[in-house]
Amino acid sequence: MSNRMAKKVTNWTKEMALYSLLRATLAKRKLDQKISKALGSGKKSTGAKRIPIKTGDKMKLLMGRYYIRAKVAEKDPDQKIAWITSGGPVEILHAAGVIPIYPENHAAMIGTMRMADSCCATAEDQGYSRDLCSYARSDIGSILSKKSPIGGSPRPDFLVCCNNICGTVTKWYQELQRMFDVPLIMIDAPYQYGEDRPEAIDYVKAQLQEMIDQVSQITGRPFVWGKFEDTVRRSEQALQLWRDVQDMLAHRPAPMNSFDTFIHLAPIVTLRGTQECIGYYKMLQAEMEGRVRNGVAAVEGEKYRLGWDNLAIWYKIQFLAKKFGEHNAALVVSTYAKSFSYQAPYRDESDILRSMAANYIAGYINHGLDYRERELLEMAEKFHLDGFVMHSNRSCRAYSFGQYELARRLEEKHGLPTIMIEADQSDTRSWSDEQVGTRIDAFMESLAARKSNAIK
Ligand code: SF4
Repeated sequence: MSNRMAKKVTNWTKEMALYSLLRATLAKRKLDQKISKALGSGKKSTGAKRIPIKTGDKMKLLMGRYYIRAKVAEKDPDQKIAWITSGGPVEILHAAGVIPIYPENHAAMIGTMRMADSCCATAEDQGYSRDLCSYARSDIGSILSKKSPIGGSPRPDFLVCCNNICGTVTKWYQELQRMFDVPLIMIDAPYQYGEDRPEAIDYVKAQLQEMIDQVSQITGRPFVWGKFEDTVRRSEQALQLWRDVQDMLAHRPAPMNSFDTFIHLAPIVTLRGTQECIGYYKMLQAEMEGRVRNGVAAVEGEKYRLGWDNLAIWYKIQFLAKKFGEHNAALVVSTYAKSFSYQAPYRDESDILRSMAANYIAGYINHGLDYRERELLEMAEKFHLDGFVMHSNRSCRAYSFGQYELARRLEEKHGLPTIMIEADQSDTRSWSDEQVGTRIDAFMESLAARKSNAIK
């Protein structure tokens, strides 16, 4: 048997062993059931009936396989692993054969499993302020306490941080660099107050070029440009499919809820640039097309259509879906799910790196209020919205900054009502079912009164 074949067999054996281990860990932690519940395929809720999305089962397999591969790779000195921010230029890593791991994705799982309070408390005990983002506190607390829904993320060989989502990640990754004593590659993506500036695009492009050289140095292998182009093409195809799936929610009734999209964005975050990611969204798209054809509604008797702003509240997805569903309200679009499908207006087929740089500064969260107002209005029109649900997120200043002003503009300038839900994406310590439930009831009653007055 050749060395290469022998290595493959050993890796396969390790994968099988780890697969059993991971399944046992997930079963113990009940992560599988939690995801099923959030997908609406767990025990039926008594209020609003949710029809499970079959493709969700495929996602659990896909994500399981991705983590197993990364765990196997941790033991392989030839296989590099990089931790990267969700808005980082991952295509460069895939093309260089590096396995990307997303601490934010891990933190979201910690939040879904309601392990965030305990992980955050561990971090706070070590002096990390409670005012820091709960993703950072959850992940750092998980590293320190070794508590994790998946038995922890595999150790990184290096880190890649792009600050196109917030400034927190810069400090978070510097902290990770100290903890693991590994190289940190920083991509500085300037905040865009108005339209995307050409000099900002050039500035990011230069850093991407530098990142290619740094990654090549770390892996000890030359960077193959052809592989990179293929990866970018796959990434773009997946982003387009994810955009198309979200656009299908403009259909009345919406075949899927924004709460579902929060779960189904996992592959576009973690696997964009791979063929598996494309396959996944093709499957989801086909399922949604079937639903539209057959008039299947995500919310039975859909009467109201709402947009969502900011991150998901991971530990309350089921509660919120049920609560809005009881009022026959469907959430049909969110700035959060859309964040992983933004496309820059600038695009040049002959300059792949500059097009990529333009895309990586184009996200909603990297823009000022006028841009955000315009985006929300476009959503309202395209998705036939009756109003917006704004999650004022204690953790995420970058997202929540200016939300009250946005709500005022939407209401006063454009007649779009909003409800502000003050919470945190993972940390449950400032949440109250009763208070939020009462506010939603009041908001929906006022929306109903508004609608009936408009009809008269
Ligand atoms: S502050 Fe916001 S954008 Fe930054 S890591 Fe936390 S949740 Fe993500």
